[in-house]
Amino acid sequence: MTAAVVAVDVGGTTVKASVVDDRGLPRHHRTAPSAGGTDTVAVVRSLVESLRGAAVADGLDVLAAGVVTPGLVDAETGRVAYASNLGWRDLDLRAALEGPLGLPVSVGHDVRAAGRAERHLGAARGADDFVLLQLGTGIAAAVVTGGALVSGAGSAAGEAGHMPVYPDGEPCPCGKRGCLEAYAAGAAVLRRYLAAGGAEVNTARGVVARLGADPVADRVWGEAVTALAFGVSTLTMLLDPALVVLGGGLALAGDALLEPVERAMADLLVWRDAPPIRLSTLGTAAGQWGAALEAFALTPHAGCVESWTRPATPVA
Ligand SMILES: [Zn+2]
Repeated sequence: MTAAVVAVDVGGTTVKASVVDDRGLPRHHRTAPSAGGTDTVAVVRSLVESLRGAAVADGLDVLAAGVVTPGLVDAETGRVAYASNLGWRDLDLRAALEGPLGLPVSVGHDVRAAGRAERHLGAARGADDFVLLQLGTGIAAAVVTGGALVSGAGSAAGEAGHMPVYPDGEPCPCGKRGCLEAYAAGAAVLRRYLAAGGAEVNTARGVVARLGADPVADRVWGEAVTALAFGVSTLTMLLDPALVVLGGGLALAGDALLEPVERAMADLLVWRDAPPIRLSTLGTAAGQWGAALEAFALTPHAGCVESWTRPATPVA
């Protein structure tokens, strides 16, 4: 039988899960709504169980599961100290999954796992010093420096979304004002556009689609880009990365994001060159690819990931 793992990305609204085989090929995929609180743990368990059934029918032997979540996640202990969007506090996620599933389970942080995947398979392949900035509903970073993925003393490294960019600026869901996330996260772009009297759209990509034809969209997007450039320039001065990767849903805006951020960065970093800025090549599947890498590390087939090439078929 071919070895495989189940890779799970737990989000605030959706849980995404895929079977990935030892050649790095995604074989089955399922999603389910996050149920909230400990019910979300049951959703993860049932997705892993149903995918394991599908994998066996396909001649695959599922040897481990990898689960990544937002929040304060300790990959060593498998505990989630706090995840606001999931309603989790001091949850021993690994124990809650390993016992009932009878499988080894890795527990990781979604954005750090995405950084691991971008380094192994994606836009930062082989880079020892880079920052991945995930621009989703919120914003968080994976920092790799000297080849090491930085977790911090309390597993809270990379919360770049709450770096202040405009003191006394827009209120942020964290309770402070002027955070990067309050301007440049997908949810913020949409909220600010609608608050400024924009047209009826229901996603940040809807705002992006109106660029060039809608002055409100142009202004709100311009302010998001400026805030993002402040954030990236701060990270650049602190860490001197070889490159910065922009990922998450907002990075699907492509050149509409990349080009103005590059221009703004060149203006902000007058005394040094800006690092190259690239768009994620794994897109919103990066967290799941990271979960697959972390899960295979628990199996006797850990070395198989070395031969993986850039996924031809992204995990959805
Ligand atoms: Zn904040």
